[in-house]
Amino acid sequence: MADTPADIEGLIALMARLPGLGPRSARRAVLHLVKKRGTLLLPLADAMREVGTTARECVSCGNIGTHDLCGICEDPRRQNGQICVVEGVEDLWAMERTAAFRGRYHVLGGTLSALDSVGPEELRIPKLAERVKDEEVTEVILALGATVDGQTTAHYIADRLTGVQVTTLAQGVPVGGELDYLDEGTIGAALRARRAL
Ligand SMILES: [Zn+2]
Repeated sequence: MADTPADIEGLIALMARLPGLGPRSARRAVLHLVKKRGTLLLPLADAMREVGTTARECVSCGNIGTHDLCGICEDPRRQNGQICVVEGVEDLWAMERTAAFRGRYHVLGGTLSALDSVGPEELRIPKLAERVKDEEVTEVILALGATVDGQTTAHYIADRLTGVQVTTLAQGVPVGGELDYLDEGTIGAALRARRAL
């Protein structure tokens, strides 16, 4: 594509850095955007500039919003004594889509990882301990990934929080799942997390 103008090549190179987009799909996306200049490319550019100037991290929970405190932290109805701890903002948004949780959140910004030298200082763990003290928290729900790093992080946090109930999400059979298709680890976890019917 030697005859593609340099600024379009530049846009393709930027798009290719997005998660889930390689050079090939970035090229297709840019071509689509250029074809839909008025209805898609320009509105997208405006929206990106707007979000680029207004988006910020909530000073309390780490969610992404447009004010110092995000909408969830600002909502007094969400102060029910529960804080749900998640690894990333995408996990917070996934929890919110379920509408099953009405408390507040705390975004860690990752998990402890010896391999990637991520220690407690790199995560928002000290801030969590501060919030547990200041916000009349009665329960901290650890909604971390069922990975080695996720579980190491959960145990580290549980060890450090005192005077508050610490719970974790159940692991087990997914909704609509059939036992025959599950791995041994998931079936074992589901058996351990069994409950009375
Ligand atoms: Zn917040």
